[in-house]
Amino acid sequence: MQSITMKTIYKLLFIFTCFTITNAHAQTPKEKGLAAIDEATINSTLTHLASDWMEGREAGRPGAYRAAEYIASLFEFMGLEPAGDIINGKPTFFQSFDVLEYKAAKKQSLSITSAGQEYSFAYHTDFEVKAAPTSIKGKGDLVFVGYGLAVDSLNYDDFAKQSVKGKIWVRLKGAPTKGELGKSFKELPAKQLHLLKSKLAEEMGALAVIEIDPNSALPKQSSNFPFRDNRKYYEGDEPLSSFYETQLYSPINKVSKIAPVFMGGAYLMASLLDQKDLETYHNALQSGKASQITLKAEKAAFKANSEVERKRVRNVLAKITGEEEPDSVVMVGAHYDHLGKRDGYVWNGADDNASGVAAILGIAKAAKATGVKPKKTILFASWTAEEKGLHGSKHFLRTYEQKENINVYLNFDMIGRRGDWHSKDNQVSFIYTAEMASIWDKNERNIADFNINLEMFDGKTKMGEAGGSDNVNFDKEGIPYFWYHTGGHEDYHQVSDHSDKIMMDKAAEITKLSYLNIWDLANE
Ligand SMILES: [Zn+2]
Repeated sequence: MQSITMKTIYKLLFIFTCFTITNAHAQTPKEKGLAAIDEATINSTLTHLASDWMEGREAGRPGAYRAAEYIASLFEFMGLEPAGDIINGKPTFFQSFDVLEYKAAKKQSLSITSAGQEYSFAYHTDFEVKAAPTSIKGKGDLVFVGYGLAVDSLNYDDFAKQSVKGKIWVRLKGAPTKGELGKSFKELPAKQLHLLKSKLAEEMGALAVIEIDPNSALPKQSSNFPFRDNRKYYEGDEPLSSFYETQLYSPINKVSKIAPVFMGGAYLMASLLDQKDLETYHNALQSGKASQITLKAEKAAFKANSEVERKRVRNVLAKITGEEEPDSVVMVGAHYDHLGKRDGYVWNGADDNASGVAAILGIAKAAKATGVKPKKTILFASWTAEEKGLHGSKHFLRTYEQKENINVYLNFDMIGRRGDWHSKDNQVSFIYTAEMASIWDKNERNIADFNINLEMFDGKTKMGEAGGSDNVNFDKEGIPYFWYHTGGHEDYHQVSDHSDKIMMDKAAEITKLSYLNIWDLANE
């Protein structure tokens, strides 16, 4: 009896001890989710997305279709709900939309008429063409428009007292650089100036633009091989085809309004204006006087030929519906598209941005592993056509009906390397809407509480000043965002952005931290 009693006591003790141990170590749902993310979570999906099978995932091409199918299948495998287009009454994981893909055709022509004599120029030698989304030919009067800029805050207007509509503009590249005026222009972001120039050409009705570089000089030596790519040891008679020669345009916008831009070198410039006149013009600008240049030619004629294809592209969308506030949404996104393949090269885009897609898949896995539903809805998006103008996220926001319900957007773009400006492996830039400063504290708290091996750089950015990736479109809508970025490096947008160079452990740490923040935000 005694022995039995003792046995029972031991048994009870054992059960009791086990119970206490399990109880002390019982994981919260948040911890369960965290335990689901490790290096393999990142490595598995990243390596596949950045493999040659995906052919560089260029929007509208087979590789991107394959990548989207893969991402959607993983969302479905993990038990997420589809949040894309509804087809035959059933929601799907894809949100499809059309874009116009265009590039300059092989034949382009440009000529000017000076004193009744017509001169034509050679494409690729005397000028290059920035194509428009449609072929345009035209003839018209030439007009010198200076830098083609008008900036109220600087009291600067190149169009004052000039009729420029329907004419072919001769425009200087860049912005004024000299004197006080130059200084004020330097303070404006270069990208904004560039966009402003295009916008003004559109609004003021330029028929075409001939843009000349005021600093260009005729080359001292001629080269046998005009087309080089030093990184690839390429020297050829024909230019290598490039991702950047094709562009995307949304067919919902008017195609006809965009003027083609002819970019000319020294020879074209010399045919259009006198160097001395240009100096006088710049001197006048510095002293704040308006001046004009009399061009050496009166008229120009051109054919800007574009090859245009209409293409269907797709975002991938999935969600976990919130238990208590399903209409309240926290969003997680990363673009899956990259630069494609051409001329025997594949741009695998391991860091840009297979790494970001691997992170959102990791967060989805963790959110499901919590075993509970979040309070708010978590919406996952893998964007297309980011590389060609942030089109995927733009389309989503244009059509999403409950924009005001999106509390916050977490973006990923390149989280797998040690960037040029970082001195330690575990450093990462944390970029976020300055007006939502609490996200920094949340981030710091999760790093400390969960022992995350990351050192953060504070990249707070005022609302309306976002740059770089799909976060820009959310910023424009006034939706606060945050994103992780491990920085630029020598393989950025090169064929060498391969998965064997990715720091999988670091990407996993970033994914863990992102999940912790998103889980908190979805349960607030
Ligand atoms: Zn990217």
